[in-house]
Amino acid sequence: MNLPAIENATALQLPIACTLMAVLGAMIGSFLNVVIHRLPLEQSIVFPNSNCPKCRKPIKPYDNIPILSFLALRGRCRSCGARISPRYPAVEALTAALFAAVTWHDGLSFALAFDLAFTASLVALVFIDAENMILPNAITYPGILFALITRLVVPYLTGSTHFEDLPQLISILPARLPLGAVSLIGALIGAVAGGGSLWLMGFLWEKVRGVEAMGFGDVKMMLMVGAYLGWRLTILTILLAAFTGSLAGVAVMLQRGQRNMQMMLPFGIFLGIGSIASLLIGTRLIEWYASQFS
Ligand SMILES: [Zn+2]
Repeated sequence: MNLPAIENATALQLPIACTLMAVLGAMIGSFLNVVIHRLPLEQSIVFPNSNCPKCRKPIKPYDNIPILSFLALRGRCRSCGARISPRYPAVEALTAALFAAVTWHDGLSFALAFDLAFTASLVALVFIDAENMILPNAITYPGILFALITRLVVPYLTGSTHFEDLPQLISILPARLPLGAVSLIGALIGAVAGGGSLWLMGFLWEKVRGVEAMGFGDVKMMLMVGAYLGWRLTILTILLAAFTGSLAGVAVMLQRGQRNMQMMLPFGIFLGIGSIASLLIGTRLIEWYASQFS
């Protein structure tokens, strides 16, 4: 087979791969629902099998099919008729869509599996923060380690500059440094940019308002995101989060007729949205923005 033929075959495979990854995403989303429900309660994620929170009856495998079972059961438990939260099909559908989008973005590459895991962990953080106002260490600590391992392993195994900050770093750092080391340096700069900015924002907010602004959960989340995405996409993430968070804050205040800026919105939601947006379209956004000035 000559090269254009191989490229054609890959081009045809991508929509099929996206569809398959969407199905995988729905199943991972089903697992994330368990994580979102049980992690804040400090219950085991693996045992026991899923049961109805109301009647405690175990959920049959045929009632546990992502999205479809919720529709078939019209959002109610088969045994007791208790309402099932629409969060369940929403997380499954969202994870399916994100898995398809990340596959479209990455293509069938070695890095795809890592980007999917990163995305899944962000979905879990967003929904746990929305429901419980916490970003559990049980996700952020392994997340930081995962980000560092990914930064080392992906460039080392593929020999490619998968991460957005790498081409620039390679041009600055000494040429004899191996790609894995350059990538780790990028991860450290990103972690400081992400975790550092969130820590500084909290510190200044405390000084100015005399109240605790946010827990260190946001800082740890941004250490993870920063190490993974590199400093440019991380700063973009924080800007996107501040923008979407302000819009949501104004919307909530208008709805409730409040003028009180003190009310708390879980910022992890918007950091998660910003991180996924940066992963998918961040490089193009930065290039577009830079082109406005050149
Ligand atoms: Zn039930």
